[in-house]
Amino acid sequence: MILVIADHDLGVLDPLSLQAVTAAKSIDSDVEVLVVGAAGRDTAAELAAHGANTIHLAVHDQLTDYAPLAAARAALQVMDSTSPRAVIAPGSPRGNEVLAHVAAIRDLPMAADCLTITPGDAGTHDVVRNRWGGNLMETAKVHGDTLLATVAPHSTTAVLADGAGTVVEFTPELSAADTAVRVLDRTGGGGGGVGLADARVIVSGGRGVGSAEGFGSLEELAALLGGTIGCSRVVTSAGWRPHSEQVGQTGTKVAPDLYIAAGISGATQHIAGCRNAKTIIAINTDKDAPIMGYAHYAIIGDLHSVMPELINATRAAKG
Ligand SMILES: Cc1cc2nc3c(=O)[nH]c(=O)nc-3n(C[C@H](O)[C@H](O)[C@H](O)COP(=O)(O)OP(=O)(O)OC[C@H]3O[C@@H](n4cnc5c(N)ncnc54)[C@H](O)[C@@H]3O)c2cc1C
Repeated sequence: MILVIADHDLGVLDPLSLQAVTAAKSIDSDVEVLVVGAAGRDTAAELAAHGANTIHLAVHDQLTDYAPLAAARAALQVMDSTSPRAVIAPGSPRGNEVLAHVAAIRDLPMAADCLTITPGDAGTHDVVRNRWGGNLMETAKVHGDTLLATVAPHSTTAVLADGAGTVVEFTPELSAADTAVRVLDRTGGGGGGVGLADARVIVSGGRGVGSAEGFGSLEELAALLGGTIGCSRVVTSAGWRPHSEQVGQTGTKVAPDLYIAAGISGATQHIAGCRNAKTIIAINTDKDAPIMGYAHYAIIGDLHSVMPELINATRAAKG
């Protein structure tokens, strides 16, 4: 059996969790899932539809929002009662954080950001995983009775598979220290919504946008295309947009159908977050910018004049 630690944000399932379930099922048909917090109860149906046989729902009055060490404690309790051969989590910042706590407490090795996981000789697993923001792929043998691994975002496509979906509710034993780090409150852009990771269209801006106000035209185009805004780290560092919109190695890894990169040079750390986009359109004044090596289409020009034209053309096409 493989245990998957699912992630949800106030009840909204992170789609990377379903990719982790599919990755787990490719290794072992018996997959059970841990969901932490009563708010995640409604994710059970979707997890079952992707093959989860048992959903362990950790309910506790301290687990009202993300609490990494407490989630790890809940995972350890399920591991102790079910003895999984592997524990797999999504390769998101949260998935990596929770599993790292499990690894540290159990003194087990953990392989992060895996593209493939293959059971090897007794007590080993072969993994191929991203290193250096996806610029290098490493083949490694992981030793340990229980494999701990996270699945690289969008390296696996979530597929439907019948699972029994039996929900087993339990109350994890938590000390005060286990919940010392947890989300108490949220300010700014409200939680619980569908984020960048799930967007089908992203209009992303970089230093070339020039200012916070410059994003107005990108927002307009994103709205017309039913998409959302992304940006580079230069933009979040300048305070033009929130970090939640940053795409890249230290931001969100996205896989939309369409990624429009406006005024973004295409640094490796940015490409690490958007290389899985089906179509990339670059808008840049520099025809030799690195982004041209990744873009399927490019518009060479000043985005401040290109954007209004794109907006008008999109409006006209929509009638
Ligand atoms: C450890 C580490 C982690 C990092 N993580 C991330 C990350 O997660 N995400 C990320 O994005 N970066 C990340 N970076 C930063 C990264 O290296 C780059 O510095 C950053 O991506 C550059 O952002 P940019 O493309 O907006 O700016 P620039 O590199 O300055 O590029 C601006 C581009 O805009 C073009 N331009 C200028 N004016 C116009 C105009 N009017 N119209 C059209 N084009 C125009 C220019 O030709 C240029 O190509 C990280 C760096 C490090 C060291």
